[in-house]
Amino acid sequence: MTPEEFRRLGHQIIDRIADYRATVAARPVMARTAPGEIKAALPADPPQSPEPFDAILADLDRIVMPGLSHWQHPRFFGYFPANGELSSVLGDYLSTGLGVLGLSWQSSPALTEIEEVVTDWMRRMTGLSAVWSGVIQDTASTCTLVALICARERATNFGLNRGGLQSEAQPLVVYTSAHSHSSVDKAALLAGFGRDNVRHIPNDEHFALRPDALEAAIRADLAAGRKPCAIVGTTGTTATTALDPLAAMARIARQYSLWLHVDAAMAGSAMLLPECRWMWQGIEGADSLVLNPHKWLGVAFDCSLYYVRDPEHLIRVMSTSPSYLRSSADDKVKNLRDWGLPLGRRFRALKLWFLIREQGVAGLQARLRRDLANAQWLLNAVRQTPHWRVLAPVPLQTLCVRHEPPGLTGEALDAHTQAWADRINRSGEALLTPAILDGQWMVRVSIGALLTEREHVETLWQSMRAQAEVA
Ligand SMILES: *Cc1c(COP(=O)(O)O)cnc(C)c1O
Repeated sequence: MTPEEFRRLGHQIIDRIADYRATVAARPVMARTAPGEIKAALPADPPQSPEPFDAILADLDRIVMPGLSHWQHPRFFGYFPANGELSSVLGDYLSTGLGVLGLSWQSSPALTEIEEVVTDWMRRMTGLSAVWSGVIQDTASTCTLVALICARERATNFGLNRGGLQSEAQPLVVYTSAHSHSSVDKAALLAGFGRDNVRHIPNDEHFALRPDALEAAIRADLAAGRKPCAIVGTTGTTATTALDPLAAMARIARQYSLWLHVDAAMAGSAMLLPECRWMWQGIEGADSLVLNPHKWLGVAFDCSLYYVRDPEHLIRVMSTSPSYLRSSADDKVKNLRDWGLPLGRRFRALKLWFLIREQGVAGLQARLRRDLANAQWLLNAVRQTPHWRVLAPVPLQTLCVRHEPPGLTGEALDAHTQAWADRINRSGEALLTPAILDGQWMVRVSIGALLTEREHVETLWQSMRAQAEVA
């Protein structure tokens, strides 16, 4: 494709995206695609000869678009929001269009330095002290894997330079809440700890980790000759946005010399609001933390921030320095390949930089506050309605609710819950995520898509009542 063809088609694509965003509310939120339907509409073999671009776009309209669920829809209340503010979308295009790679500072100096600037802006925006240094990774899952590898290497005094975990005398143990994200277990398994050495600590009635149970588990492992290594706390768990007691966990981590990693993938964005910072009180006692600007904050996926207090340790664990990547500037600059797993680094910082500058901190704060207020509105509405129950505290923008008609319990109640959520999702009116909490199905309502205003939450509540109260 020549630059002139790109110019013509590129304008068309931008128009399409602008039209899509302007009219997305008219689409059914959830795709009604049957499994295999999209694949069956496409040829098994790739084209031998070039195809006109119009033919590709026609298939996009005919086959692809009907097969999407619309995350940027104002009545998207599923999972957690994954907002792609259009300013950040433009940053993403530029990153791809410029096609530069940050293998080292020298390979594209501005790429590294803009990343340093925006991660430090985000540090200031979330109220973290100056000791923290940040780097952009793809996802929280990767950040948590990096954190547990770093914890493992600190506990073994760099066992990777010897026989690795295979030659450790004592098994190393990781502690996390029963409500932590599945990526924590995955990271612990991939970092070599083994399922037998991952402890899921019981939670209190607010679904937060119980520090007394954490300390008891650590003592039991010590008594059995195992080596406690790391604690992973969560600020804003996935099911209920529960807040683990970080200050107490940091005290325990310090007392037993354990690594404390904090997963604030979702709730980290709320730390832009000073009134929310109590939620991660104790964060300064952590060794590492992750937050995802690619969720509620609005950076187009993917953009996850990993912060550490001791970058020297991170670099010692992650660095490799082949001769062709060394340069005379190395002692004056950051080489971000040594701050994580991949060597190649795209210019992800651009989309965060664009978002922060185009919205301003005040603009971002205002939107987050709008969503918190909408969640409180729905909380009040649900609480005031007979036979509806809110099952967990609502510190942020996610509610866990259940409609409990008199006499309905156990499996019958589960069937009722899944049925009304399914009716809403299939209707295309809204998208909600049913999930299991304490062994019983409930429905999560996660507010905070860019376009979601009070009226959309009101419409959702009407749909919920209509669909649940019919029977
Ligand atoms: C979304 C989420 C994750 C996973 O995030 P990815 O960036 O998709 O890996 C992990 N932990 C929590 C608490 C989350 O909300």
